[in-house]
Amino acid sequence: MRETGSTVDLSAFWMPFTNNRQFKEAPRLLVSAKGMYYRSADDREILDGTAGLWCVNAGHCREEIVNAVKTQVEQMEFAPTFQMGHPKAFEAATRIAAHTPGDLKKIFFANSGSEAVDTALKIALAYHRARGEGQRTRFIGRERGYHGVGFGGISVGGLAPNRKAYSGQLLPSVDHLPQTFNLKEQAFSKGQPAWGAHLADELERLVTLHDASTIAAVIVEPLAGSAGVLVPPQGYLQRLREICDKHGILLIFDEVITGWGRLGAPFAAQYFGVTPDLMTMAKATNNATVPMGAVAAKTAIHDTIVNNAPAGIEFFHGYTYSGHPLAAAAAVATMDVYEKDGLFERAAKTAPYFEKAIHALRDAPHVIDVRNLGLVGGIELKPRDGKPGARGFDVFVKCFERGVLVRVTGDILAFSPPLIINEQQIDHLFGTVAEVLKETA
Ligand code: PLP
Repeated sequence: MRETGSTVDLSAFWMPFTNNRQFKEAPRLLVSAKGMYYRSADDREILDGTAGLWCVNAGHCREEIVNAVKTQVEQMEFAPTFQMGHPKAFEAATRIAAHTPGDLKKIFFANSGSEAVDTALKIALAYHRARGEGQRTRFIGRERGYHGVGFGGISVGGLAPNRKAYSGQLLPSVDHLPQTFNLKEQAFSKGQPAWGAHLADELERLVTLHDASTIAAVIVEPLAGSAGVLVPPQGYLQRLREICDKHGILLIFDEVITGWGRLGAPFAAQYFGVTPDLMTMAKATNNATVPMGAVAAKTAIHDTIVNNAPAGIEFFHGYTYSGHPLAAAAAVATMDVYEKDGLFERAAKTAPYFEKAIHALRDAPHVIDVRNLGLVGGIELKPRDGKPGARGFDVFVKCFERGVLVRVTGDILAFSPPLIINEQQIDHLFGTVAEVLKETA
């Protein structure tokens, strides 16, 4: 085993989405974090090019957030939100709703993006049922979509490795739109590609096939992150919105990655000027300090479910930790930081520099595409013959060894730094990747 500076026993923890065998041979352990940097167990500074896992948007260990959690844990570590409540959960919902678009002002709390997705799907079904269209049970997802790992999420999701072992048990009534990425037509696009809006018209085909009266909702990531940074073509989301409206189908945006300033606006919905009916969030909702996810629902959807229910509980759904006091306290403090520091505006201002820096790698070895929007970017590498993913993984490991954290999906490198990143750090991030690419076979 490589020297890690740590004597931790690695055997018991079955790590998620990890090559466990490789990791345990050559571990990469992080032991502390501040601002733009992690510190590794072998005492090296690691520039965080991925905001943890697309989630620490305000930078690490922000004092205001840490203190809010400390204060809350001393005062009350837990309180139920089933038939009871505590002020921080209400405050967190109000503060979140100040940033959500349009009339999406009702906030249902979960503990992760996966739970938020399953919650959104259930709200969609409950809504149609409450208004007398209970036959609308079908969901439309999209190829290469990632909506977490619950059975609902993998069913509407479109990543084969996440689905194949469970294929006999996925939700029965789901269809998928085609994915929107096309290397030939879109390679090296800066921002939204001009080609591809017509792919939204596939929704009309699915409506014709299944009939609108059977379809509850369409769910998409406005910008697909986990599949490798797939930026929506110009006009595509607008077209989806129009088709959904025409047929009474709900539009769900999964904003688990795009939420909280990633594109330079609170949510992708505001960035693109397209308002969904339901929206999921998680990750940066409280700067990833304590697990938290949420669904923002249109007030009319909430009212339809709540006002049409018989007396008693209106929506039979929720989690022990929905609106957990520590998560809620962290969310309130995170909103303070976002607002006080103007971090979404900062991200918008930094985006052009980030775009220039990432596109400077277009002629680096192995690069077949560079794409970006806001403070998110992807570099796609040519796979090694017969070994898809091997080159990408090598680059990820070498970057880590040189003190830079990037994310890799197959042969696609993804970048989503904290919104506090400065120009020197952007140069360091992409400069390191450029050096590593030169040395990579
Ligand atoms: N939805 C999207 C768009 C995501 O990117 C993710 C995670 O990356 C999820 C859902 C799942 O979130 P979690 O890992 O918190 O369950």
